[in-house]
Amino acid sequence: MLAPDLATAVARLREFIDDAEVIQPFTGAGISTECGIPDFRSSGGLWTNTKPIPFDQFMASAQMRDEAWRRRFVMDEHFATAKPGRGHLALASLYRSGKVPAVITQNIDNLHQESGISAGDVVELHGNTTYATCLDCNQRYELSWIRERFEPANEAPDCPDCGGYIKTATVSFGQAMPPAAMQRAEELSLAGDLFLAIGSSLVVWPAAGFPLMAKRNGAALVIINRERTDFDDVADLVVRQDIGDALAPFV
Ligand SMILES: [Zn+2]
Repeated sequence: MLAPDLATAVARLREFIDDAEVIQPFTGAGISTECGIPDFRSSGGLWTNTKPIPFDQFMASAQMRDEAWRRRFVMDEHFATAKPGRGHLALASLYRSGKVPAVITQNIDNLHQESGISAGDVVELHGNTTYATCLDCNQRYELSWIRERFEPANEAPDCPDCGGYIKTATVSFGQAMPPAAMQRAEELSLAGDLFLAIGSSLVVWPAAGFPLMAKRNGAALVIINRERTDFDDVADLVVRQDIGDALAPFV
């Protein structure tokens, strides 16, 4: 059911939230656009000039690894200054109230953690771009550490411990989805009685299967997104409004 206007949407959303015992949020790019992070997949997005390097190309040559890091540092004007938006803060409020055990996200921007949700309770299906890891020994590296070593010659450093390649902690195109995160997202999707799909077009599989999994398991499904999604017809409530506006009353 599509809510006809913002006031009705908020009132209906409040009923669903009040009635639920366990709420499972699932977030996509739309929750972060008001934070200055563009939806990279949208047309005319930043990926024209700063498209991420596919995993096989990253592994294949030092030049591509250097290029990947150059593009990542260009993107930092968006990521480094972003602060949680009203949607993030609303979910953090529900998390503190005890109704939201964890957040499943397609986003890589770390904004759920910054809003106050414990890192262990943010299930990142596509990883995290605000830090890096060694692909061989998994040692964590901060971006500032990499940048200091990158900038003199535009050459990406390798891991001082083991010589492995250092890459942002994201899931690149051509890289497998993290099994532990996928498993946990599935368990969470089946454990809630209200599934909130927020700011995702729900087209990126397999992640988009979670709302359907929850719905088939008996949970109510609420979709909050600026644009129509493929699952609007099966949702119990569709809120096609600005995400910040729709969730601000729940902060
Ligand atoms: Zn290493």
